[in-house]
Amino acid sequence: MRIKSKLLAIYIPILFVGMALTGYWAYLTAYESVREREYQLLTQTLTLNVLEIIIERRELLIDAGLENVPVFLTAYQKEVFEELNGLQKATSRHFIISSTIDNSVIFSTLDSAVEPSIEHAQFAEVSSHRVAFGESSINDDDVVFACSEFSPWNWKVTVIQPADSLQSSLSTIAWLTFLVTVVAGATVSLIMGRVAQVLVVSPIEKIKSAASRIAVDHKKVDIALSQNDELGGLARDVEVMSGEIEQYVAQAQQANRAKTDFLAVMSHEIRTPLNGIQGLASLLLETPLNEKQHQYARDLKSSASILATVINDVLDLSKIESGMSEVDVTEFDLDIMLQDLITLLGTNASANNTRLVYKSKNLASVLVTSDITKLRQIVINLVSNAIKFTHKGTVTVSAKLKTLPTEQVTENLLVISVKDTGIGIEPDRLEHIFDKFTQSDSSITRKYGGTGLGLAIAKQLATLLNGDIKVLSKVGEGSCFTITAKVQSRVTPNISHDHNENDTDKRAELPSGLNVLLAEDNAINAVVAQALLEQLQCNVEHVDNGLKAVARVEEGGIDVVFMDVHMPVMDGIEATKRIRRLEDKGEQTPIIGLTAEAFKERHVAFKQAGMSDIVTKPVTVEALRDSLVKLLAQSD
Ligand code: ADP
Repeated sequence: MRIKSKLLAIYIPILFVGMALTGYWAYLTAYESVREREYQLLTQTLTLNVLEIIIERRELLIDAGLENVPVFLTAYQKEVFEELNGLQKATSRHFIISSTIDNSVIFSTLDSAVEPSIEHAQFAEVSSHRVAFGESSINDDDVVFACSEFSPWNWKVTVIQPADSLQSSLSTIAWLTFLVTVVAGATVSLIMGRVAQVLVVSPIEKIKSAASRIAVDHKKVDIALSQNDELGGLARDVEVMSGEIEQYVAQAQQANRAKTDFLAVMSHEIRTPLNGIQGLASLLLETPLNEKQHQYARDLKSSASILATVINDVLDLSKIESGMSEVDVTEFDLDIMLQDLITLLGTNASANNTRLVYKSKNLASVLVTSDITKLRQIVINLVSNAIKFTHKGTVTVSAKLKTLPTEQVTENLLVISVKDTGIGIEPDRLEHIFDKFTQSDSSITRKYGGTGLGLAIAKQLATLLNGDIKVLSKVGEGSCFTITAKVQSRVTPNISHDHNENDTDKRAELPSGLNVLLAEDNAINAVVAQALLEQLQCNVEHVDNGLKAVARVEEGGIDVVFMDVHMPVMDGIEATKRIRRLEDKGEQTPIIGLTAEAFKERHVAFKQAGMSDIVTKPVTVEALRDSLVKLLAQSD
C-alpha cells in the first residue's frame, strides 16, 4: 500500500469519527435551543394571549359589578371560548380549559375532551404566572403543551400544539448537521491528502527515485528538496551519501581494473614459463629415456598441466566476478555438441573404468541459441567431476528442452543433468559445494586433486546464462547435478551432422613442408614452439623480435607467421600492423598470434591489429595444428 493511501486510510476514519462527534454535539445543542424556542412561544401564547383574554373579561365583569351574577359570568366566559376558537384557527394551536376542582374539561378546541398529562412537565414563572410546560401525548399523538391556573375562576388553561413541527425542524437540523459533517469531512480529507502529498509523499517519492538512481548509476544525485524538516534533512543526507557512493564505486572500479590488469600480467608472466615447462616436458617424452626418467618427465608434464588448470580457473572466476565475462550467444546444435563432449570425455571415463552414457530428449533436429562456450565449460566441469568421483560405475548425461520446440524460434528452458553412481557428498557439505575453494573434505584434495573452484565457476556461468545448477547427492550412492539455462530453440529439418567428418578432413588437409616464421623472444618457448611445429612437418625459421619478423616477411617465401605478442625492439602487434601495411591490398600472409594473455578482449585487439588467429600459451601441438588447418582452409 502506498504511503499516501496509508495516511488517508488512517486519518479519514479518525477525521470522520471526530466530525461525527462534533456534529452530534452541535445537533444536541441546536435541538435544545429549538425546543427552548418552541416552549417560549407556547408559554408566551398562554400568558400574553389566552390569560390576558380571560383577565380582560374578568376585569370587565368586575368593573360592571357583575362578577357574581352567574348569567353574566357564563356569558363572559363564553366570549372567552369564542375568542379561543378564533385564536385556534389563526394559530393552529389548541386550547383546553378544565376545572381545577374536579379536573373536568370545560372547554376544548380538540374533538375529544382530554388533557395532556403534566407528569414530566417543567415549571417556570412567565409574566408573573406560574407555567408548566413539556411534551406529552394526546390520543397517541405527540404534543407540546404549556398550562397555567387561573384561580379566580378555578380554571386550568392549557395550550397545546402538535409536536410534528418541532420534530420536523429537529430532523432538518439533523440532516443539516449530517450534511455539513460529510462535506466538511470530505473537504478536510482532500486538504489533508494534498498537505500529506506536498509535505510527506512527494518528498519521499523524490528521495525514493533518487535512491533507485543511485542503485543503478552509482552517481551523485541532486534531490532538489528545499524543505527544512526531517525529510529535507534525509534528502541532503542521501545526496551526501550518493556522493560518497560515487567515490567508492569509482575507487572500487579502479581497484577492480587494477586487479584485472594484475591478473592479466600475472597470467602472462606465469603462462610464459609454464609454456616452456609443458613444451619441454612433451619434447623430453619424445626422446629415448629410461623408465625412471620417463616417469619423472610424465609427472613434470602432468604437474604443469594441473598448474595451467589452476591458473585458468582463477582467471575464469576473477573474470566473471569483475563482470568482464560477456554472454556471446550463437545458434548451435546442442545434441551434436553434447555428443562431441561425451566422445572427448569418454577417454577419461574409460581410464577410470567408468561407463559414460548420453541420453537426449526432444533435441534431434533442434537448434539452440545460447553461449556455447560457457555451456560447454559447465558440462565439461560437471562430467569431469562425475567421472573423477565414480570408480567402476556409470555417469549419465541427460539433456532435454522443457517445452517441445517448434519451427518458430521460442524461449525455452534447457535442462541437462549429470548423474553418477560415485562416492556422493555428505549432506552438511552439500550446501557449500558451490562456494569458492570448497571441497567435500580435505582428503579429497590429496586423493583426487582439484582446487574447489570448478563448481563455483560453473554456478556463476549458469547464472550468466539466466539459469542455475542444483545438486542432489547421497553418500555411497552417487550425485546428480542439474543445470538449467534459458535458451531459444527451433526445429529445423536441415541440420548438417557431418561436422566431425569435416574436422577430420581438415586435419588430413594440413600440407607438409609449410615455411613458418616463428617470432619469439623467449629462447625456451622458441625451442618448444619450433619443436612442436616441426612435429607438424613445418620448416621453421626463428627470429627474436618484431622488426626482424617484418624484414623476413618482406623478403618473401613465408607461408605462415607465428608471432609472439610481447617482444623487445618491436612487439608483435606493431610488427603485424607493419606487415599488413606492406602487403597493402595484396594477398595476406596468415599471422597467428602467440600469447600468454588469456583475456578474450585482448585477443580482439590483436585481431584488429591484423592477426588472423590467436593461440594461447601454453601451446600444444593440437592447438597449432587446428589454427593452421583453419587458416589454410580459409585461404583456399
Ligand atoms: P574441484 O576442482 O576440487 O573438483 P569443484 O568445485 O569442481 O572443485 O568441486 C568441489 C568439490 O565438490 C569436490 O572437491 C568434491 O568434493 C565435490 N564434488 C563435486 N562433484 C562431485 C561428484 N560428482 N561426486 C562427489 N563429489 C563431488
